[in-house]
Amino acid sequence: MTERLTGHTLLISLIATPIRHSMSPTMHNEALAKLGLDYAYLAFEVGNEELKDAVDGIRALGVRGSNVSMPNKQNIIQYLDEVSPEAKLIGAVNTVTNKDGKGHLVGYCTDGTGAMAALADENVAVKDQIVTMTGAGGAGTAVAIQAAFDGVKELRIFNINDQHFQNAEETVRKINENTDCKATLTDLVDQEAFKQSIAESSIYIDATAVGMKPLENESLINDPEVIRPDLVVFDVVYSPRETKLLKFAKEHGAKKAINGLGMMVYQGATAFELFTGEEMPVDYIKELLFSE
Ligand code: NAD
Repeated sequence: MTERLTGHTLLISLIATPIRHSMSPTMHNEALAKLGLDYAYLAFEVGNEELKDAVDGIRALGVRGSNVSMPNKQNIIQYLDEVSPEAKLIGAVNTVTNKDGKGHLVGYCTDGTGAMAALADENVAVKDQIVTMTGAGGAGTAVAIQAAFDGVKELRIFNINDQHFQNAEETVRKINENTDCKATLTDLVDQEAFKQSIAESSIYIDATAVGMKPLENESLINDPEVIRPDLVVFDVVYSPRETKLLKFAKEHGAKKAINGLGMMVYQGATAFELFTGEEMPVDYIKELLFSE
């Protein structure tokens, strides 16, 4: 690795806090090395306090691009020169490009495209489908808006009545105003409506934190009758690889039970392409980092 770094090497950054646990540096550096591209991808511990200086630093140092994670995904927008239409609607940016290091920073959100690419990779088409989803936080918003952009016919969002509910209302409004998708929001407390909605859907997406620590022993579906042989179940959680929901879906014969790993890899792959202009060797990365 060290031999590869020279005076010509270009930098790509990742700014977030906490960040040391992130898989992104390994994923991107392995892909860069595989393709022989002269970049290094490094993580920097950056929170709200340091964000403006960090963005100035990206411009000053000619950093070629950056991934952005919490707590900076929304705050960074004010410091950018341009934001993609999807990222604007989502209200969050996870990828910033600095073409040729000239200081013109453009923000994108690749979480939603990553989720759609992960579904496509499993031969699941979203176009013209009725989709039920739970969750309308950071991940849920990106997935919902991208799904609407990608042609979902009806998107029925269910969320508990917590601090994310208002954001869910906003997301539904934005989808209905800006796309042909018909979006609705229902309180998840209405379990009959939830089950009825899944019965009418071909895809169920769980974009909540349920299934991940400390909620690893919970699932939003516990009734076997909800799972059908023609239902695709997609959980955005990738740690653990098999959430309680996915285990339950498999046991009761769902058509597919897909975890969040593909979404993670493809959000990175889209960012990689935006940074370098080259396609990430996705199969190689999946095999190298995520084969079990
Ligand atoms: P967030 O805090 O922004 O949103 C959490 C969502 O979960 C909200 O909609 C909230 O209402 C809902 N929720 C929380 N507790 C719940 C409960 N007990 N019952 C029902 N709903 C509940 O979080 P986020 O950033 O959107 O992340 C959500 C999940 O998505 C996390 O598990 C995260 O690991 C995963 N994620 C995966 C990827 C990927 O690439 N696969 C990317 C981002 C996030």
